[in-house]
Amino acid sequence: MKNYMKVSFSAKVENVVFTRTVALGFLVNLDLEIGILNEIKTAISEAITNAIVHGYQNDETKTVDLIMYYDDTKITMEVIDYGIGIENIEKAKTPLFSSKVEEERAGLGFTIMDVFSDELIVESELGKMTKVVMVKNYHESREH
Ligand code: ATP
Ligand code: MG
Repeated sequence: MKNYMKVSFSAKVENVVFTRTVALGFLVNLDLEIGILNEIKTAISEAITNAIVHGYQNDETKTVDLIMYYDDTKITMEVIDYGIGIENIEKAKTPLFSSKVEEERAGLGFTIMDVFSDELIVESELGKMTKVVMVKNYHESREH
């Protein structure tokens, strides 16, 4: 591992913007192409939004963890909540499935995370936690 970070923040929807900025700031030394940065930003935002609105049902007193680390070829991002958990992970990952259709959610968050990462791992314990791990392969565009 070349670099590691962890941030914990209140489960507020407005914190999605702040954590996105933190994530991109952490990766700044890798000199990544804008396309990869946009994919990472979007994937992380989806995972964090899910932790807040589903995991914690918008309970702003709870805390979401974002962990990121990278080596020479891979960036790993972990988003963890200690909320309600996911009963059926395969079903939750199905495109267009949402448990909150009444809130006009499209059910596309996991699909976006899947498309924008090279590896997507979801671990969950009902009533305890959900951890979404996304791995992104990369090539440094210049030496440091
Ligand atoms: P969209 O992301 O398009 O707004 P969505 O959040 O419902 O809609 P996904 O992000 O694909 O769609 O998530 C699918 C479903 O998985 C959610 O509706 C929810 O039931 C469940 N889910 C996702 N993340 C979590 C989580 N952290 N904790 C509990 N349930 C979750
Ligand atoms: Mg979602």
